[in-house]
Amino acid sequence: MRYPIGFTMAQARHRARMEQAGHTRYPTVLMLEPLYTCNLACIGCSVERHTGKLADRMPLETVFKAVDDCGAPIVNICGGEPTLYPELKELIEGLIARDKYIILCTNALKLDTKVYGVIPPSERLFLMVHLDGLRETHDYVCNRKGVFDKAVEMIRKGKELGYYVYLNTTVYKETRVEEVEALCQMVDELRADGILISPGYEYESVTADVFLTREQIHEKFRQIRAFSHRYRINATPLFLEFAAGLRELPCSPWSTVNYTPKGWKAPCYLIEGEGYFDNWEDFWNHTNWEYWESRIDPRCQNCKMHSGFEHSAVTAAMKTLKGTIQLAVWSLRK
Ligand code: SF4
Repeated sequence: MRYPIGFTMAQARHRARMEQAGHTRYPTVLMLEPLYTCNLACIGCSVERHTGKLADRMPLETVFKAVDDCGAPIVNICGGEPTLYPELKELIEGLIARDKYIILCTNALKLDTKVYGVIPPSERLFLMVHLDGLRETHDYVCNRKGVFDKAVEMIRKGKELGYYVYLNTTVYKETRVEEVEALCQMVDELRADGILISPGYEYESVTADVFLTREQIHEKFRQIRAFSHRYRINATPLFLEFAAGLRELPCSPWSTVNYTPKGWKAPCYLIEGEGYFDNWEDFWNHTNWEYWESRIDPRCQNCKMHSGFEHSAVTAAMKTLKGTIQLAVWSLRK
C-alpha cells in the first residue's frame, strides 16, 4: 500500500466520523512546530522558522493541549528542526499514547544521535527526510555542503533499523525534473517507503529568487505527473492534476492546521493572513475559512501546497465513482 494500512484507515475513519457528525470543515493533520530553532538556514525556508531560540520552545504540556484541542489523527512535527527539541522522545511517546500517527519532518542531520537508538521504530512513526534535489541542488538549497550525503546515509540506516522513511522534496526554480525522477528512483534503491513532491511556496520573507511562477509549476508538474505511475509518489492523482494545472480546487486550510511557538496560525502553515490565536476555540471559530477557501487573496494565487489542497483533492475524487476507484487503486499500489 501507498501508506501503511493503519494510517490510511485512521484517516478514513476520521473523515467518516466527522462527516456523519455533519462537519464540513475539520482538521486531519496538525502541523506542530514545537520550536523555531534549526541547524540549517535553507534558502527557501521562511526566516522565522530557523532563527528562533531553543529557550523559546513550547513546553510539552502546551503541545499536548494543542494536540487534544484540535483532535486531528495525524501530527506532523516540523519547525524548526524537531530533532533539536530536547523533549522529542517524551513528545513522541505522548502522541503514541494518544493514538496519533506521527510524521517527523527532518533534515536528517541529527537522526543518528537523537532518534536512532533513542526512539524505537513504530508503525505510528514516519520519518520524512527533506531532499530537495540531488547533491548539488540540495546542498545549494540547504546552503551547506555535505547535507545531501548525510541525509542519504541516514535514510539507508533508518531502513536498516526498521523505521518507515519517506523523502520530502520541494521543487524550486533550480530543480530539474530529471533530478526529481532520479530522487524517485532513489526511493527504490534505498528501499524507502515513498516520496512527497510539492512546489515551493513563495514566502514574503525570502528574498532569494528560487520560486517557480504558476506556469513553471504547471510545466514541471506535467512532466512529473507523466512518470508518477512508475514510482511511490505520495501525492494523490487529483493533487498531481491540480499541480499540473489540469484542474482547479478550492483550498482546505482547516484540514491541516498549524500550531507554532506564537500560537495557532491563521489561516495556514504558509501565511499569517489573520495572525495568531492563543486558544483553539478563537482560532477555529473566528478565522474566515470561507475567504481562504476561495483563494482570492493575492498570497494564495501561486500556492499549490499539499497542506492546502490534498484534502480538497480527496474530496473531489470521492464525488465520482471513477475518482473513488482511482483513489482506491492509488492507495493500494505498492
Ligand atoms: S491557498 Fe495556500 S496560502 Fe492560501 S490559504 Fe490555502 S494553503 Fe494557505
